[in-house]
Amino acid sequence: MARKYRVGILGATGTVGQRFIQLLEHHPQFEITALAASDRSAGKSFAEACAWKLAGDIPESVREITVQPIEPPIDCDIVFSSLPSSVARETEEAFARAGYPVISNSSVYRMDEDVPLLIPEINQDHLGLIEVQQTKRGFGKGFIVTNPNCAVSSFAPPLAALDRKFGVESAIVTTMQAISGAGYPGVASLDIIDNVLPYIAGEEPKVETEAQKILGKFNGTSIQKADFTVSAQCFRVNVIDGHTASVRVKLRGNSTLEEVIAAMKEFPSLGLHSSPDRFIEVLDEPSRPQPRLDRDRGNGMTVTVGRIFPDNVFDYRFVALSHNTVRGAAGSTILNAELLASKNLI
Ligand code: NAP
Repeated sequence: MARKYRVGILGATGTVGQRFIQLLEHHPQFEITALAASDRSAGKSFAEACAWKLAGDIPESVREITVQPIEPPIDCDIVFSSLPSSVARETEEAFARAGYPVISNSSVYRMDEDVPLLIPEINQDHLGLIEVQQTKRGFGKGFIVTNPNCAVSSFAPPLAALDRKFGVESAIVTTMQAISGAGYPGVASLDIIDNVLPYIAGEEPKVETEAQKILGKFNGTSIQKADFTVSAQCFRVNVIDGHTASVRVKLRGNSTLEEVIAAMKEFPSLGLHSSPDRFIEVLDEPSRPQPRLDRDRGNGMTVTVGRIFPDNVFDYRFVALSHNTVRGAAGSTILNAELLASKNLI
């Protein structure tokens, strides 16, 4: 069997870091060889440093790995980053400059012109930006690739399906985002129990802009963003995992309800290891999707859509749901790495 790629995780002790460790435990292409986090954790074994919050035990293979500071060099071929924005810009650049491919969950590089913002099923041709980036930033063989905001991961796939077939003119998106999206310890229990919070710092601008880049066209040197507007309101709700988005969309071309449903159902998945059988699952039951029932579909990598109807104000409305720490974070990073490996880019 081919040698596995050696992975280093920045922010390994956090909510997304733990999900990486869980998802990589039996991965056929990747093995974890380095873990890094803040000064609070550096120097301790992972088991000592990490307040493990996922079901099951910390995998044996990482328990005794000593957590390192977030500085190159670390012993790996590729870096998965789940660092807070406050340190991500400087740190991810340092790793890219030191020659590591960096795949990031952080928002800081997502909208930079020369950085791919990837959903592999939608825009893998944007990987062409890597060469542009390496030349522009003088990175040598290192580079930075990003995955989208966790709420965007729920509604950009159905929007992509509609944009390809009919053209999207505008959308109103209202998100209901899980508590784990705020990391750990995240939102205080006294704020979120018996409550809905109508504000998530910094979230609405991301939800209003990232999909246009993801659905943009790569012209060989840059991305021409898709020409539609999104209006967003983002809420934190009392759900542990799984972001839900209520979407109303106006289309450019003519369409029937049947065609809209078919466009979503037919959007192809990829054949990569972490690809779900279905990228978008459309449910007919009137009470779905629901976070508890649908977030783990396709091992957390499927986006579930339901309640697709004609809308009285816009053209159509629907509800989309995805697992925020899997499709919206660690699972997407791993899928991006599988894509890069399949194209011999790592
Ligand atoms: P988290 O649970 O708060 O974990 C943060 C991680 O970063 C921990 O490993 C922490 O290490 C480390 N860290 C914090 N401050 C640091 C510093 N100054 N220097 C070095 N390391 C530091 O956060 P998270 O939810 O995993 O989110 C991580 C990133 O992913 C953020 O950029 C977030 O926006 C993004 N993201 C999160 C989600 C989600 O659903 N949670 C989804 C998509 C994207 P210690 O344990 O040592 O403090």
